[in-house]
Amino acid sequence: MARIAVGGFQHETNTFAPQKATWEEFERADAWPPFVRGPALIAAVEGFNIPIAGAVAALKERGHEVVPLSWCSAPPSSYVTRDAYEKVAGWLVEDLKKLGPFDAVYLDLHGAMVAEHHEDGEGELMRRMRGVVGDTIPLIASLDYHTNMTAEMVRHSTAMIGYRTYPHVDMAATGRRAAELLDRLLKDGRPLYKAYRQVDFLIPLVWQCTYLEPAKGLFDLLDEIETGGKGAPGGSHNQGIVSVTHTPGFPPADIAQCGPALVVYGHDKAAAEAAADRLADAIRAKEAAFAGKLWSPDEAAIEAIKLSKGASKPIVLADVQDNPGAGGTSDTVGLLRALMKAKAKGAVIGMLVDPPSAEAAVATGEGNILRRGIGAVVGYAGETPVEADWRVMKLGNGVFTGTGPFYGGAKFQIGPMALLTHEESGVSVVLACKRVQAADQEMFRHVGVEPGKTPILGLKSTVHFRADFQPIAETILVVQSPGAHITDPVEYPYQQLRKGVKLRPLGPVR
Ligand SMILES: [Zn+2]
Repeated sequence: MARIAVGGFQHETNTFAPQKATWEEFERADAWPPFVRGPALIAAVEGFNIPIAGAVAALKERGHEVVPLSWCSAPPSSYVTRDAYEKVAGWLVEDLKKLGPFDAVYLDLHGAMVAEHHEDGEGELMRRMRGVVGDTIPLIASLDYHTNMTAEMVRHSTAMIGYRTYPHVDMAATGRRAAELLDRLLKDGRPLYKAYRQVDFLIPLVWQCTYLEPAKGLFDLLDEIETGGKGAPGGSHNQGIVSVTHTPGFPPADIAQCGPALVVYGHDKAAAEAAADRLADAIRAKEAAFAGKLWSPDEAAIEAIKLSKGASKPIVLADVQDNPGAGGTSDTVGLLRALMKAKAKGAVIGMLVDPPSAEAAVATGEGNILRRGIGAVVGYAGETPVEADWRVMKLGNGVFTGTGPFYGGAKFQIGPMALLTHEESGVSVVLACKRVQAADQEMFRHVGVEPGKTPILGLKSTVHFRADFQPIAETILVVQSPGAHITDPVEYPYQQLRKGVKLRPLGPVR
């Protein structure tokens, strides 16, 4: 039995987004638990599809003593404020000192956190934690798929284990894999050699989906390298390769080390280096394949109406740039206006984050008409609210549990919510009060909409929606409506990105 400290500090930072991550954002509950410190952590994260939940369960099953530090996450946005970063990092370091000594440390990290005063949030955090526990004990971190993995992060951790799916349906499973590796390292005590590579082109999020090629095939290759192929158990046929992580990166981050990277851990230096080269070469060989069609809102609305005639399942319009899961404000109205203009009868778009309008809908009451402008609360890119008469169809308190493969088990607290219908066009909107990605059907059912029976669904999500909505969709159109998560990184004014990186596959070099 070993004594293992566990903690987490999650943020995905879109440095180009308009809203910063303040301490209050980490302190509140939305889809994930609020900040929690000490013994209460174990119960607070249990049952969520998040890495620390899987790690804690797996460590306990192996008979280890789990000592909780603290855990928190905030919705993706711009920089983590210095105040928030220092508070959270400070408590993690303080508790690590106070509650030690430990045999090992597990951290639940995103990997794309940028603080106002540190562009490599995770590298700096792990450097400070190493300062407490020294260089010899295992320090293992799980990472999001959208990590911008830096050499500092590789240096200060013993190993890092990334998600292998986008939509991320393996978040808790990744925590579990990290715990299994930790257990293995504690038992066999052999040092791990690390082979790290960066790939010098940014990949737009929308083309990183593992339901699609080339990401699907590249992660199959990763599995093959790790296991030695043909389902062989690790160890015998894989030349001592212990673990492989590839993180395709989070482009909207103006930091030097933005972009895809990978790391191979193994007992044999030459084998690990060769495996890293093999995977990096395979990614580079697929550069041109990270691409697809993007629709304008007006084109998409007209096409969706056409396709919905005769279709038995919804036409899904992915509002990929206003994805709150990538720093979008989730209140832009480009797609809503296009659907209203095209009179896309029966279309429903969600979730539009507009707390004052949601409160006004509650005051108006179900069945009545609310006359006001909705959306564009932040006013990103000069957008203005959509003024109209809205029938308040249904209200909800925003408290419900996720049921899809991505948000399954998540205890949402995002209300009040409302379903509003513009009767002239037949277009409806789901309003909510907190920025959460439209990636679970329950968000619609909560206000009386059955997604599978809706002819056209507009979803403020880039890829995660596919986990729960692709199975019920006739087809999916990827729409470029205004939003702070710009699909083509060429449009971002990078200042810090290292020289020589292509801003998109086959794109111009910064
Ligand atoms: Zn992610």
